Amino acid sequence: MLQRTERGKTKTILVAGGAGFVGSHLCDALLARGHRVIAVDCFLTGSEANVRPLLNHPNFRLIERDICEVKSLDEAVDEIYNLACAASPPHYQADPVHTMMTCVVGTGNLLALAEKHGASFLQASTSEVYGDPEEHPQREDYRGSVNCTGPRACYDEGKRAAEALCFDMLRAERVDARVVRIFNTYGPRMQPNDGRIVSNLIVQALSGKPLTIYGTGEQTRSFCYVSDLVAGLIALMEVNPNPGQPVNIGNPGEFTINELAEMVVAMVPTDSSIVYNPLPKDDPQRRRPDISRAKELLGWEPKVPLAEGLRHTIDWFAASLADEAKPARR
Ligand code: NAD
Ligand code: UDP
Repeated sequence: MLQRTERGKTKTILVAGGAGFVGSHLCDALLARGHRVIAVDCFLTGSEANVRPLLNHPNFRLIERDICEVKSLDEAVDEIYNLACAASPPHYQADPVHTMMTCVVGTGNLLALAEKHGASFLQASTSEVYGDPEEHPQREDYRGSVNCTGPRACYDEGKRAAEALCFDMLRAERVDARVVRIFNTYGPRMQPNDGRIVSNLIVQALSGKPLTIYGTGEQTRSFCYVSDLVAGLIALMEVNPNPGQPVNIGNPGEFTINELAEMVVAMVPTDSSIVYNPLPKDDPQRRRPDISRAKELLGWEPKVPLAEGLRHTIDWFAASLADEAKPARR
């Protein structure tokens, strides 16, 4: 029988990708709940700055390591969240072989650790497993329309393989695994060079550079604020009431990229113009989560509307860009 970690007790929790955008917010939330947190990260797209305020926290430890190399840990863990993987298309496509290895070999290594320690496991999967979807909105039982040989395959096929590994380990009763399919999430601590739409538009508007829109800008996405996502991740780790079922976590509000750009321009005083660049290959035309399962199983739904989340994110980028512009102290 699989061991389940008890709710309410102080746990030791491994967060792979803990120095990344989402991972660092998850570390904050888990520490605030009184847990011990070990973040493992190779700083590919994350940064020590994201967890700097935690480095002196008595319950926090940061280990610099690639999950493809993690074979053992020197302490037992109760839970593992696997968020390690570049998430922005230009970053995951920069070294596609490493992206695929991270999803398959890295996830395999962490599942082996979970099995060894009897730890519960959460895999961060993605709405990309639905590819350029023919069904709209996307429910978890939709099998997707993915180009398995295209430039996005290292990520979307990698994540699909990682899901399969998790469900195989669960069916074999070797690991108490669950899978969350994350839809576009944004917020403070995205890197200014991350390359995803929300951070690109905000950084461009704040620095007076042209706003880049790929294609016509009529493609849609649904944007979830990071605190909502973190609440969903923790709820699924703690409850997992229906093992073997992936769960969509995202905000069902759907916006075209043109609408998002208009919102950013209305919120950031800027002289920036808009430039239209070619649409990247296999870029999905529309995306919106059906979150009925998360509502029903976890009692979860997003709370932060796009305008409010954008406000926090713009304020954070404005402060961090102003900080960067200050002369370095000797
Ligand atoms: P991010 O790029 O900010 O964070 C990923 C972190 O993983 C970074 O700190 C990076 O250095 C680290 N990492 C990458 N490869 C690694 C490896 N082999 N070993 C160790 N560390 C490694 O991205 P994010 O937005 O915080 O995404 C976190 C997770 O959520 C990812 O797995 C991503 O696929 C998933 N996800 C995110 C979104 C989103 O919109 N933010 C959407 C869908 C899925
Ligand atoms: N996009 C854009 N300009 C940018 C960055 C992205 O128009 O500067 C588009 C991109 O082509 C896609 C959408 O915005 O249609 C969301 O892109 P992102 O990389 O944020 O996420 P994903 O494509 O993985 O959903």
